[in-house]
Amino acid sequence: MKMELRKSFQFEAAHLLPLLPEAHKCRRLHGHSFKVDIVVAGECDPKLGWLMDYADITAAFKPLWEQLDHRYLNEVPGLENPTSEIVAVWIWEQLKPALPLLTEVVVAETCTAQAVYRGGQ
Ligand SMILES: [Zn+2]
Repeated sequence: MKMELRKSFQFEAAHLLPLLPEAHKCRRLHGHSFKVDIVVAGECDPKLGWLMDYADITAAFKPLWEQLDHRYLNEVPGLENPTSEIVAVWIWEQLKPALPLLTEVVVAETCTAQAVYRGGQ
């Protein structure tokens, strides 16, 4: 039985996008309530009837969450240009070794705008 699990997290952070023109609103310092979905997929354990423990997803993401929550993202190494796209790749690259079943990272900076990364270029 193949299954996909999706675990959602939230963090509050400030950022600005330094490469945009001065007049663009995202060039100004502002904040978001970011939502992150971590998605894993694979074959369920036939005995336990589950793919993996959601708590293990939380444990794997926690060190990253601590670097993101209530931070100025531009100061986080690797996030000097913290677009949602770059945040999604940043999460993927650090999470994948700890969470081999990872298939997707979704970063939403508003309720209506999401960046989805599934690895690769
Ligand atoms: Zn923004």
